[in-house]
Amino acid sequence: MDLDKKKEGLGMTSRRTRNRLVARLRDRGISDERVLDAISEIPRHLFVDEALAHRAYEDTALPIGFNQTISQPYIVAKMTESLLSGLSVNKVLEIGTGSGYQTAVLANLVDEVFTVERISGLVSRAKMILAEIGCRNIHYKHSDGGAGWDNEAPFDAIIVTASPKFMPQSLLGQLSEGGRIIAPLGDMEEQELIMCRKVGDGFEKTSIGSVKFVPLIAGKS
Ligand code: SAH
Repeated sequence: MDLDKKKEGLGMTSRRTRNRLVARLRDRGISDERVLDAISEIPRHLFVDEALAHRAYEDTALPIGFNQTISQPYIVAKMTESLLSGLSVNKVLEIGTGSGYQTAVLANLVDEVFTVERISGLVSRAKMILAEIGCRNIHYKHSDGGAGWDNEAPFDAIIVTASPKFMPQSLLGQLSEGGRIIAPLGDMEEQELIMCRKVGDGFEKTSIGSVKFVPLIAGKS
């Protein structure tokens, strides 16, 4: 199948099915039209195994191999909307590339995305798919994201898509003035999605709700 047809999808992977997902996200309270537009443009079915493509537009997390999951669309939308609302964002850092789907949503909305992933097989797969769908403003790093990306800091926004117990200090230190970080904090059982905004020497903290992410793991593989 040629690339355009593959991107456009058929039946359960068609644009109509994708638009039903967007309608569902709107019903659940996502209101940022830029985020909804990005989700209606990005072929999520290319980011999951072919055998699961027919489920790509359900509002659910799905396995992507290596014991990891692609995040639920509602959570991707909610995190992106919270992170970007009212901010003029040029540079975003993402910890946990995974499938690359959240990376694609960000790449549609900001100038440059820097994404870090600890599993090399996921880095190469995400790179391939994101290039295939034409995202050219993404920089990749195979590394332990707990340390952030020091020589590219500061970032206007940082998104952490795996769960640390506490907000990593090294990441807080890589935010620009007024910049925001969003991360699911907690243990395996339960996590709270926390956003911190850097104001002078301190941080304003907001809770966005409870979530479930895979844990942030130190080191790379
Ligand atoms: N946003 C991704 C979520 C993937 S799950 C998506 O929607 O596909 C979380 C990802 O974080 C996994 O790929 C996992 O390997 C990665 N991860 C866990 N700990 C990490 C760390 N210390 N540094 C970088 N990536 C990490």
